[in-house]
Amino acid sequence: MRYSELVEVYEGLSSTSKRLEKAGILADFLKRVPSDEVGEVVLLLQGRLFPAWDEREVGVASQLMVKAISLASGSDAASVEREWKMTGDLGNVAENLVKGRRQRTLASSELSVGKVFSNLSKLAVIGGEGSVDRKLQLISELLTSAKGVEARYIARTVLGDLRVGVGEGLLRDAVVWAYFMRVRDDFSKEEREEYNAFVDAVQQAYDLTNDFAVVAKAAKENGLEGLRSVRIVLGRPIKVMLALKVDDLKDALEAVGSPLQAEFKYDGFRIEIVKDDNGRIMLFTRRLDNVTAQFPDVVESVREHVRGKTFILDAEAVGYDKHSLRYLPFQSISQRIKRKYDIEKTASEFPVEINVFDVLAYNGRSMVGEPFRQRRALVERIVDDVKRGIRPAEAVVTGSIKEIESFFAKSKAAGNEGLMLKGLDSPYKPGARVGYMLKYKKTLENLDLVVVGAEWGEGKRSSWITSYTLACRSDGKLLEVGKVSTGLKEKPEEGFSFDDMTKLLKPLIKGEDGKSVKVKPKVVIEVAYEEIQKSPTYESGYALRFPRVIRNRTDEKGVNDINTLADVERLYRQQKKAKGGSK
Ligand code: AMP
Repeated sequence: MRYSELVEVYEGLSSTSKRLEKAGILADFLKRVPSDEVGEVVLLLQGRLFPAWDEREVGVASQLMVKAISLASGSDAASVEREWKMTGDLGNVAENLVKGRRQRTLASSELSVGKVFSNLSKLAVIGGEGSVDRKLQLISELLTSAKGVEARYIARTVLGDLRVGVGEGLLRDAVVWAYFMRVRDDFSKEEREEYNAFVDAVQQAYDLTNDFAVVAKAAKENGLEGLRSVRIVLGRPIKVMLALKVDDLKDALEAVGSPLQAEFKYDGFRIEIVKDDNGRIMLFTRRLDNVTAQFPDVVESVREHVRGKTFILDAEAVGYDKHSLRYLPFQSISQRIKRKYDIEKTASEFPVEINVFDVLAYNGRSMVGEPFRQRRALVERIVDDVKRGIRPAEAVVTGSIKEIESFFAKSKAAGNEGLMLKGLDSPYKPGARVGYMLKYKKTLENLDLVVVGAEWGEGKRSSWITSYTLACRSDGKLLEVGKVSTGLKEKPEEGFSFDDMTKLLKPLIKGEDGKSVKVKPKVVIEVAYEEIQKSPTYESGYALRFPRVIRNRTDEKGVNDINTLADVERLYRQQKKAKGGSK
């Protein structure tokens, strides 16, 4: 396939911001792409040479691009730099200078997608002596053959800045449109159902493989059946399952079934561990970025303490203090994820414990359709239990609310965030938030506070007062502890609304300054929050993190009944104690 055909698509996509038009352009194009080129085309459409989970990177700096443009266009480096300063975009510079070059070399030929892909992907693997020159050659060879506008997209792809905006959602729709049918307003019920089933199948195949080349091929060649028979690709990560929040244990037991498995919810970061059939161990974040190089210590413990020829494990890496062995909050180890140098030193300074909580594939077999109880049993069989090393996540199986509560207290005392609650019969749904696992964090007890100030809203909300300054009391004074603007409904029929609040507050306004108003302290509301922090911003010395309005208590409570500064201080200490404990 000619590269110019792909460039035409880039141009079409850039010329519209309408999503449906973009999907249409992509779908028409995908229909024309031969099966054996779909892989390369799909990557290039996203401005990539490798999928996100692949460690390889093109790694070409702007300065090398300047040299390549100069070589291909015959303009000296200084003029390339000058033009770059003027336009601010090396893609445009490449286009202009290549267009304006004095004569096209005789050797220049029509560029193919295959040629562009092959030269650019070689850039990632060239290393050692003379590598800069070879990279320069590879790029300028392409630019020499490129027509102006092709040069623009080659340069942008090399620099990892394509700016065409093809995301996963758009590609998914384009695959459906190309190989099944386009969405229409006048779908019959059956057509709508068929269409949705195809969309789900494309999404599921993508969640399992993270590779639109595999997905597009399956859809093109065998339709729905092809998509449904797509399996995990050995040695590649798959998207992780996501959790829903639950506040009430009775609801949790109902949602996932009783008994359930409760596990510590560690305050670390998700890590997917893949071992391929060459014995290679790879580590990925929740977004499937490859972080293997940053965690040699983890690779080592996986090698030593997990049995199996191939596998994909789902786990949480949690930091701990190397002297006291106490768990540390996520922030203390977050720097390890992006670390490029001093890796060994950082690893010994900020060690992590790996808590394995699921297995998605084992010895060549997909496990995602198996019930959780079997997956967990497998985890226990293949992962050793090495404290502050690698181990199966701490868990209990129970149907008793009392037991879950006491396990929750144990988890908090160990420095964790709370619990995960999982259904024993549930499958694993990659990429989905379907309620097979719930997070239970239990926020601190709610506070009743009075509104002392507020702000008018903007845009659609400009006829309402939408943000409220809250105060607690102390020795007859009111002290501010934060602002809240979430938890209220937009539609009055759904509950306590912005409109209700505006009606309550308007008669109490005693001064206005721009959008801000001061109000007489009369309206008492109950608020929930994630955390209490020390803060110099408010007179009380504290601020509520992520507060949300639970209900209006003005009819039941007056200013003298609201929570006091002493209450806020007590809750602050309580929360600190819960966080600071260790196992
Ligand atoms: P959240 O990020 O608040 O939505 O909570 C879900 C996250 O908790 C997951 O993505 C994991 O990174 C993390 N987590 C910690 N412990 C566990 C566990 N035992 N099972 C599943 N996820 C866990």
